[in-house]
Amino acid sequence: MAIDFTLAPEHDEIRTRVRTFVRETIAPAMAALEEGGKTPPREEYLRVIFDLRGKAQAEGLWLPHMPEEWGGMGLGHVALAMFQSEAAKTRIGPWVFNCAAPDEGNMHTLLHWANDEQKEKYLKPLLKGVKSSCFAMTEPEVAGSDPTLIRTRAVKDGDEWVINGHKWFISGARRASFAILIARTEDDVPEGSRGANTAFLIDIPQEGWNDVREVETMHGSTGHSEIVITDLRVPDGQILGGRGNGHRLGQYRLGPARLAHCMRWISQAETALDMMVDRSLNRYSHGSLLAEKQGIQWMIADSAMELYQCKLMVLHAAYKIDRGEDFRTEVSMAKHFVANSLNRIIDRAIQVHGALGYSTDTPLVGMFQHARWARFADGADEIHQMRIAERTIQAYRDTGTTRDATGGLPL
Ligand SMILES: Cc1cc2nc3c(=O)[nH]c(=O)nc-3n(C[C@H](O)[C@H](O)[C@H](O)COP(=O)(O)OP(=O)(O)OC[C@H]3O[C@@H](n4cnc5c(N)ncnc54)[C@H](O)[C@@H]3O)c2cc1C
Repeated sequence: MAIDFTLAPEHDEIRTRVRTFVRETIAPAMAALEEGGKTPPREEYLRVIFDLRGKAQAEGLWLPHMPEEWGGMGLGHVALAMFQSEAAKTRIGPWVFNCAAPDEGNMHTLLHWANDEQKEKYLKPLLKGVKSSCFAMTEPEVAGSDPTLIRTRAVKDGDEWVINGHKWFISGARRASFAILIARTEDDVPEGSRGANTAFLIDIPQEGWNDVREVETMHGSTGHSEIVITDLRVPDGQILGGRGNGHRLGQYRLGPARLAHCMRWISQAETALDMMVDRSLNRYSHGSLLAEKQGIQWMIADSAMELYQCKLMVLHAAYKIDRGEDFRTEVSMAKHFVANSLNRIIDRAIQVHGALGYSTDTPLVGMFQHARWARFADGADEIHQMRIAERTIQAYRDTGTTRDATGGLPL
């Protein structure tokens, strides 16, 4: 059996190209835009980003997650891990390369579930980067962790559906030209059934789709909308993936999308660890550098060990996806572990920076504010733990050992 952690030359080449593009093209453009801590006007910001997108596309660094026949780079998930973690060294990197959430997950979903007509109308403009999209599932009134509780209703009226409901935290809704909306359509299914919901493609703007506010969050008002849906009408042809398939479609979308988040979080955690070590090498107290204090070394060591585990877990889950194996447990474990490690590592980096870490003079505060949602969005910690435990118990029941539930590794 071969276990080989060396990097294939073509992966190394792509990783170097992304790293170089981020360092030499994106970083200077963003530094110029935000020079002196100023917040640029939105038009100026968009102009720079679209200029960067054009350059990325010209370099062939575009849609790393899409097949070549759809204009993408056709990378597998292991290669994608390298691409995404380099891209996320700068906040806007994934957006520049057109592999950011929620469009990235929506592209996968459309590629798999849309019919030819829907691909033409909705997928192609996303791939070209001329339109963007959102995914509307979560509702304020019921637990987002349990989509069988969804209350937004679509009722059949002739060849049309009439939809009423309430969604919130819909990322990117204000700049989206369409939404993938999950609504309940089926009544005659048992309580808790996964066949009650259907996905619809909703053009935005349209009558009945009311974007009432962008929700203020601990990282500001950054594009997560609350939507009230009132008597919105769509033809039957706007169903995506077949009636009653909304839950399956959502789960299909989230699998690889969760791992893509982990790839980007690893990059943020590494930046925090780099900053922690750099600060400890430059701060002197009680006769020695912080780097020489055992208490600080433990924080550095714990962070390094966790980051190592994060990288191994993400690469192994990606490897399983590439091989067409069942990856659900590994992605759940990676999502939980990387999200929590990210929070712990940034917190330690703030601790080592002292008051400076608490100030907005370094990026750590912004990173910390963004990292918090990682522990409950796209599956809360406890939901992943529940699923991991269920599969571990099942593995024991089936085989008399838990081995299959711990990555199926040869140990
Ligand atoms: C920045 C951000 C962006 C988002 N973007 C989108 C988006 O684009 N589209 C979209 O549809 N949604 C989006 N969401 C919503 C996100 O998917 C939900 O927050 C998530 O699914 C959890 O649902 P909830 O907030 O209703 O929490 P709840 O389901 O109410 O859960 C709250 C807490 O209860 C606990 N809990 C829940 N169920 C269980 C259980 N069975 N066992 C043990 N504990 C449990 C967990 O601790 C959980 O954190 C976004 C959220 C954030 C913060």
